[in-house]
Formats: sequence, structure tokens, C-alpha cells
Amino acid sequence: REQVSGSGIYGFGKTGGRVPVGIGRRRLRIVVTGGAGFVGSHLVDKLIERGDDVIVIDNFFTGRKDNLVHHLGNPRFELIRHDVVEPILLEVDQIYHLACPASPVHYKYNPVKTIISFFQFLTTFHKTNVMGTLNMLGLAKRIGARFLLTSTSEVYGDPLEHPQKETYWGNVNPIGERSCYDEGKRTAETLTMDYHRGAEVEVRIARIFNTYGPRMCLDDGRVVSNFVAQAIRKQPLTVYGDGKQTRSFQYVSDLVNGLVALMEGEHVGPFNLGNPGEFTMLELAQVVKETIDPSATIEFRPNTADDPHKRKPDISKAKSLLNWEPKISLREGLPLMVSEFQKRILNEDEGKGY
Ligand code: NAD
Ligand code: UDP
Ligand code: UDP
Repeated sequence: REQVSGSGIYGFGKTGGRVPVGIGRRRLRIVVTGGAGFVGSHLVDKLIERGDDVIVIDNFFTGRKDNLVHHLGNPRFELIRHDVVEPILLEVDQIYHLACPASPVHYKYNPVKTIISFFQFLTTFHKTNVMGTLNMLGLAKRIGARFLLTSTSEVYGDPLEHPQKETYWGNVNPIGERSCYDEGKRTAETLTMDYHRGAEVEVRIARIFNTYGPRMCLDDGRVVSNFVAQAIRKQPLTVYGDGKQTRSFQYVSDLVNGLVALMEGEHVGPFNLGNPGEFTMLELAQVVKETIDPSATIEFRPNTADDPHKRKPDISKAKSLLNWEPKISLREGLPLMVSEFQKRILNEDEGKGY
């Protein structure tokens, strides 16, 4: 197999690769499920840029081909329209398993572009988390690939520990409106560890905290995309509840670096990947105003059920074992997504869609 520049030492093989090859390193074949989505497409950019072969599997449920259009035609890139709920046969070194529609709770309250019912969405969601994860683990087992699951800070529920460490088991309502996301990802983590212990699959688990950046879905109702789009459209910023709940926002390139460090490292995890900078939603609205439009107004709306009151990662484990920490603060990161959002909103306004 061809060598690429870089300092890593990998090859095709049973353990996801660890074959020393001298100064260069073997070119890897990597699958990214959900690679047409927000995080996935940035990850694909990084993997292609460093010289590896990438296969994206996506059913375009919440992702868009536009996010990958710059790779179409590149012989090292392949895009497969496929639902991970169905089995698939591939030969690869590594599997980044991101496929999962964004939290259904967002769609419930922001059904702008959702053409299926909320219940249909829920069943699709469960199937993706359980059957999709099972299929990707079965694939990893058969070919001896290394498997990385993108789990979520939502596994901590409405946390009683603050900040949250990986050792915290969480405070999740199993029958609540947002529980299918929390419990779906908890099940996916359980499956991942079962395959690790029972079938010796090499696995990695990332617990991702709120992430933002260019290519975020415009209509999934997440707070950063909502506020940024609202400020651009000259609409009031919608703050849910009293706006005193907190989140910690991570810029997407920091996350991508963390995912790659985790995949290449020697530790299973789980690892929190997030930026510990904690903001109330009112503070976030203020930063968005300062960044985009100081004259923007704020409108209060009722909050969603079971909304976590606070969330902030303890990242000491990732710092010490992966030598990773985020570099981009909210004030630095927000301006980096504005022009891309402006472009898409303008396209929409002109009726081109995207
Ligand atoms: P996204 O919706 O932009 O991307 C998910 C991708 O998965 C989409 O391209 C979608 O079409 C695809 N997909 C969904 N179901 C599929 C299926 N059954 N088969 C094939 N493809 C399917 O979301 P994102 O924000 O990029 O999230 C990526 C991953 O990171 C997800 O697993 C998500 O749970 C996790 N995560 C994200 C955040 C965040 O703040 N963005 C936070 C925590 C966890
Ligand atoms: N699977 C897959 N691709 C493969 C190997 C397995 O999609 O290359 C799927 C397979 O169809 C099954 C799941 O992964 O639904 C779990 O596979 P495993 O071999 O662990 O379990 P089994 O097939 O024995 O139930
Ligand atoms: N939120 C808000 N206005 C919005 C969208 C969300 O105030 O337009 C709040 C939401 O109630 C929650 C926080 O922002 O308290 C983060 O919401 P998001 O859906 O982005 O992420 P998650 O709840 O999954 O952490």
C-alpha cells in the first residue's frame, strides 16, 4: 500500500493497524458513517488532507451532499448512500461511527424541514442507534478494524455532578421526551463495550459536548445555529426558559482533532471531548449579538421538558491520556461560522435551497 507523509505508523490489519513502516506511514482506509453531516464532513476533510482513503456511508437523513461536494471526483474519496440499519460489507482499517440523526428533541420543536412525523423520527432514531451501531460493530469484528463511537454528553442527563467526569453514571429519565437520544447513545456505548469485551474488537468511545461551526444544520433547532441564523435574518434570538441554564460550546475543529487523537491513541475511553468554557444561554445570546448584530433583540420562549440545567466537561482525562485540549474559545469560533451561514441563508432566500 502506498505511503503518505506524516509521523504515524500504521498499516492494514487485525488491530486497526500498528505495523511500523519507517518514516512515512501506510495509507489507511477509513469509513466515516454519517460523514455527510456537520461533524462527519469536517472529519472527512481532515482525513483526506492527511492522505488517507475515506469511504463515507450516509443516508442523507440530516446530512447533505453539499458538505462533501469538494471531495467528489477525488479517487481517494467514496460516497455511499446507505442506511447503517442495513448490513454492509467493506474492508477497512478504521470505522468512525457518527451516523445518528441529531437529537430528536430538536426536531420536535423545530419541524421546519422535517417531512416525516415525530413518531417516525423516533423509530428511525432508535433503529439507527441500536441496529446501526450493531452492524458497524459486526463489520469491525469481521475485518479486525478499529471502531470509534461518537457518544454524547447527554448520557449524563440532567447531571447531579458538575463538571461531569467520565466516571459519572448520569441522571437520565428513561421515559422522558428526550430520553431516546440519551438512552439510545447509552445503549450504543453498552454495545460497543460488549463487542470489546466479548469479541475483542478494538473500540474507542468519545462523549461529545455541544459543538458548533460551519455546516451545522440550519433547522435542527440547536441553540448556536438558531441564534446565529436568527441574528443574520434580523429575527429575535429565542431564549428558552429563563436563559440561566448553561452549556459549554466547542468549535468543530477542536472536536475533530480530539476524535483523531482518540482513534490513534491506545485508550478505549470513554473520553469527554468538549470545551470547558461554560456559558448561560443569555450569555451566549450576548456573544452572538456582539459578533453579528448588536441591535438584535431577545425573545423568551417556554423551555423543553427535562432540559439539563447545566453542562460542562471535565477534560482532565483527555488532556493527560490523549494530550488533547480545545484551542478555540467561543468568541474566536463564532465569527468562523458566520459567513458560511450567511451564504446558505442567502441561497434559501433566493429560493435555490441547498
Ligand atoms: P448530523 O445530523 O449533522 O450528522 C449525522 C449524519 O448521520 C447525517 O449526515 C445523517 O444523514 C447521517 N445518518 C443519520 N442516520 C443514518 C443512518 N441510519 N444511516 C446512515 N447515515 C445516517 O449531526 P452531527 O452534529 O454531525 O453529529 C455527528 C455525531 O456526533 C452524532 O453521532 C451525534 O450524536 C454526535 N454528537 C454531536 C454533538 C454536536 O453538538 N454536534 C454533540 C454530541 C454528540
Ligand atoms: N455485519 C455487517 N457487516 C459485516 C459483518 C456483520 O453489516 O461485515 C452485521 C451483521 O449483519 C449483523 C451485525 O453486523 O447484523 C452483527 O454481526 P455479528 O457477526 O456480531 O453478529 P451475528 O451476525 O452473528 O448476529
Ligand atoms: N435553547 C435556547 N434557544 C434556542 C434553542 C435552544 O435557549 O433557540 C436552549 C435549550 O433549551 C438548552 C440549550 O439552549 O437549554 C442548549 O440546547 P441545544 O438544543 O443546542 O443542545 P442540548 O440541549 O442538546 O445540549
